[in-house]
Amino acid sequence: MNYYDQHLHTFLSFDSQEIFENYLLNKPAYFVATDHLDLHNPGDDFHDDIPDYEKLTQKLAELAPNYPTTFLKGVEIGVVPGQEDQINDYLNQHPYDLKLLSIHQNGKFDYMDDVVLTKDKFDVAKKYFDQMSQVLDTFPDAQILTHFDYGLRRLDFTPQELEKHFEKELSLILKKVIKREMALEINAKSFGYYQNANLYRYVIPLYKSLGGKFFTLGSDAHQAEDYQALFPEMAGLLKEFGVNFLVTFQKNDRFLTELPE
Ligand SMILES: [Zn+2]
Ligand SMILES: [Zn+2]
Repeated sequence: MNYYDQHLHTFLSFDSQEIFENYLLNKPAYFVATDHLDLHNPGDDFHDDIPDYEKLTQKLAELAPNYPTTFLKGVEIGVVPGQEDQINDYLNQHPYDLKLLSIHQNGKFDYMDDVVLTKDKFDVAKKYFDQMSQVLDTFPDAQILTHFDYGLRRLDFTPQELEKHFEKELSLILKKVIKREMALEINAKSFGYYQNANLYRYVIPLYKSLGGKFFTLGSDAHQAEDYQALFPEMAGLLKEFGVNFLVTFQKNDRFLTELPE
């Protein structure tokens, strides 16, 4: 199996209009969209954003005969403490092959909203990492921790600052990821657009030093032109640290694949 993009969005997300057919122009062997599930979402006027499962099922059934592609069902789950039961109830009735765990918001604001610029950045980051750590205890149902730096994207942190102020928090988070046998995502939006590659250069060896082995690449595309964006560059980053394989998830199965060239 070749590695395939395990983080991308379609019109089933509140913040994307993209259609499956555009992503499928390359006729990939496997395809999985990971649309947003974010309850009480400040990024969308506090709506409960839940991808329409029936529409997804219908769409995949319609596409399957026309493509040489194995279609999987994915979802990117944003979790705020207190929402776990409601999300679990939903997931129990709507099975997915791939579940991403994300921290996007805290019930009051999205960590990428302008309001974070009015706050003390160390305080925001501390609360963000504590939320992530808590959710890794209370929400058991996911295979990949996405964009660990999402809550830092507006805050201009250096790797030195992370090491000095948050190594304890990050080590705890990474230990939980390892214990749960989840993978750590290298996110193309973080790596490219938000220029946080250096934060990954700090976290990848930290994760490895604690025993972490499983990595994924995610374009986090919201439009088809970003499909598998920066995969060669992000694979190169992993190679810097002696990482030689990636992992793909399909329900309870896990497959090791080579790094894309
Ligand atoms: Zn996300
Ligand atoms: Zn995403």
